[in-house]
Amino acid sequence: MEQLTKEQFIKAFKAQLHTDYLVDNSEATAEEHFRTLGKLIKQYVMSDWLRQRDEIIKEQKKTAYYFSIEFLPGKMLQTNLLNLGIYDLVAEALAEINVDLNILVEAERDMALGNGGLGRLASCFMDSLPTIGAPGFGNGIRYKYGLFKQRIVNGYQIELPDAWLPSEGSVWETKKPHSAVDVKIYGSVYLTPQEDGVLKPVYENVKTLHAVPYDVIQIGFNNGVVNNLRLWDVELPEKYELDYQTLADRRRVEDITSFLYPDDSSRDGQAMRLIQEYFMVSAGLQTIVSSYAKMQLPMEKIHEKVAVHINDTHPAMAVPELMRILMDDYGVDWDDAWATTTQVMSYTNHTVLSEALEKWDAGLFKEIVPRIHQIVGEIDRKFVKEWAGKVDTGIIERTRIVQNNQIHMANLAIIGGHSVNGVAKLHTELLIEDVLKEFYILFPEKFNNKTNGIAQRRWSQIANPGMSALLDDLIGKDWRSNIHELSKLEEQLTNSDVQSSFYQVKQANKQKLADYVKKTLDIALPVDAIFDVQVKRLHAYKRQLLNVMHIIKLYQDLKANPELDMTPRVFIFGAKAAPGYHFAKSVIKVINELANLINYDTSLNDKLKVVFLENYNVSLAELIVPAADVSEQISTAGKEASGTSNMKFMMNGALTLATLDGANIEIKDAVGEDNIVIFGMDKDAVYAHYDKHDYNSRAIYESDQTIKRVVDAFIDGTIPNTHYEGHEIWDALVSYNDEYFLLEDFTDYAEKQAYISELYQDKHKWQAKVIKNIANSGRFSSDDTVEGYAKEIWGIL
Ligand SMILES: *Cc1c(COP(=O)(O)O)cnc(C)c1O
Repeated sequence: MEQLTKEQFIKAFKAQLHTDYLVDNSEATAEEHFRTLGKLIKQYVMSDWLRQRDEIIKEQKKTAYYFSIEFLPGKMLQTNLLNLGIYDLVAEALAEINVDLNILVEAERDMALGNGGLGRLASCFMDSLPTIGAPGFGNGIRYKYGLFKQRIVNGYQIELPDAWLPSEGSVWETKKPHSAVDVKIYGSVYLTPQEDGVLKPVYENVKTLHAVPYDVIQIGFNNGVVNNLRLWDVELPEKYELDYQTLADRRRVEDITSFLYPDDSSRDGQAMRLIQEYFMVSAGLQTIVSSYAKMQLPMEKIHEKVAVHINDTHPAMAVPELMRILMDDYGVDWDDAWATTTQVMSYTNHTVLSEALEKWDAGLFKEIVPRIHQIVGEIDRKFVKEWAGKVDTGIIERTRIVQNNQIHMANLAIIGGHSVNGVAKLHTELLIEDVLKEFYILFPEKFNNKTNGIAQRRWSQIANPGMSALLDDLIGKDWRSNIHELSKLEEQLTNSDVQSSFYQVKQANKQKLADYVKKTLDIALPVDAIFDVQVKRLHAYKRQLLNVMHIIKLYQDLKANPELDMTPRVFIFGAKAAPGYHFAKSVIKVINELANLINYDTSLNDKLKVVFLENYNVSLAELIVPAADVSEQISTAGKEASGTSNMKFMMNGALTLATLDGANIEIKDAVGEDNIVIFGMDKDAVYAHYDKHDYNSRAIYESDQTIKRVVDAFIDGTIPNTHYEGHEIWDALVSYNDEYFLLEDFTDYAEKQAYISELYQDKHKWQAKVIKNIANSGRFSSDDTVEGYAKEIWGIL
């Protein structure tokens, strides 16, 4: 890549504006400026991008393909500038022609092709893969509408379509019509012997979809590597246009890539979703196999050059689809196809919630993907036959793919691949001991752990420029390329100048967030208060409600004693609820009504504030995370597979208030018990309740006056306008035995919260813990996580 000068950049920028929009720099809109800059960036990396692609083919490099139904990149402008090493140059050059880079940043829309943690992880990996120089490409869907845009009206969540994609397309993508492939769904298929006796499938009455790829640049950090995220869109195939004669027919096709399903923990049973999954998998794999074919190597050895990763179960049809392509299109026999397929495929499990384990009705499966249904049936039969007599039949019955007329996608991914990983130590242990224990009996060698990580450049350098500048001063700039350098801060934990510098950075970030809250909600936040933050998808197991119960307790304490000496607190929430998730939406309503009650009660003397920020997304996270003093990671132990916001907060100097769940445990191991605040039951205590069936929330409610008072606040009129929601919550906690053990964990939680209030008063102690957390956050870099995948699972490094 050539070295860019300011003059060259300005010249190119103005020329591009002229060409594209026929405007002078001074007349152009922020949107036009943004797109122009994006286009220049793309041109700037084009030669690296092409070189990378050519190298892979010429050098026959093994390549990994990360299949995920979700990606959640957020905005890309700053990341791309930073990774190219031209951030400052471009900001200064633009300033010379009176263009403010920050306004361009604002003009970009978040790419929200994911729901939450799962999609965000995939995007952190997309940033890290080129950064570590690994040939790893993403494969997903180009949804026209991302995750819904959340508005709060009268305290209720309202879902609006998120039309993130401008009509002229995303500036970061390049459409590749010549790489389009056809995908067949529906119809019927039967096998008929060829002259040589080999069975060939004959398709009848199929619908053909035209899959067109859009390649999105993924730029490595300061290394000239540019990878690719391939997103598939659907078009009507001209050749088969007679199959789609009515407008309704056509619309149904277009709908295949219209929406991301806004449900990240349990399925909603849409046939459309199954089509999406197959569409993405088939288009991606056809392309991968045909580019492998160009290397002119034997098809039975495709695993030597190709790794396919199944991120959660949605792409699990990659297993039968690769079998189909190898057998039907390339004439490989079953045994050879199976041997190579299982070495190509690997799978990450992301959940222990049984309701979130994906299953499909076999009838629907057969209707939509008949050939895949046949192959899955055959994989299942062979699996049963292979293990018969070797292990208990019960184990086979529970691990096979087809059970009670349902296709179990996790089983397919495990049986059809060579690696199954969990996403944090505890999570992997739980897979082995509990959720997937019978698979562990069959295939112990497949199991491994890869603790999640975060793209530290986005979550430190971009999100927190103030802290980054301070780090440069304290430990030099090397941490920007080697995050482990942060450990140098260990020497400065108790240096009071350093402590006060970190404190000032935090206060400035809190002020920035407070300004945003003032502007959007017209609520004034005191920045000397503890900013206590819980931002993540709304789910019962994440226990936002436990946080709410504690706020109610503080409110009641303050009302009973207005003179109470209490460290002021600001509780900040951000969370989208799945549109069909009734309980989660009730919690949102209650938080908002509680906020209204508290924020306007002058008798509380600003000691307590509650804000719910609407439309939590990556950009909002970048504003909120650096402003947090306390990071709430309070899921029921054993339920949160890993969590990644816990890592983002840690890196930005928040103290974690947590249960021993997911990666919280590894944060504790990194910083030591004194630098994290742990409360509540651990996983063994939770499981003991499951085993003994001895949990009784009503007994706790009746015997503990504080808890009773807090829980009754949901139904006694304390919180206005929540009659219905309050009863629903009260019932969940008392009548339905509190599935997530909030009442049992409440007392310890409230005590640890009181400890935090006290600790915050001692600025030296607090800041030492803050710095300790930052110093040890390097181990949660997704650069290291993907290096583990690349070396141990994919064999590409
Ligand atoms: C990091 C992130 C998440 C994941 O949060 P968890 O607390 O780990 O569940 C979800 N949404 C967004 C926008 C994020 O940036």
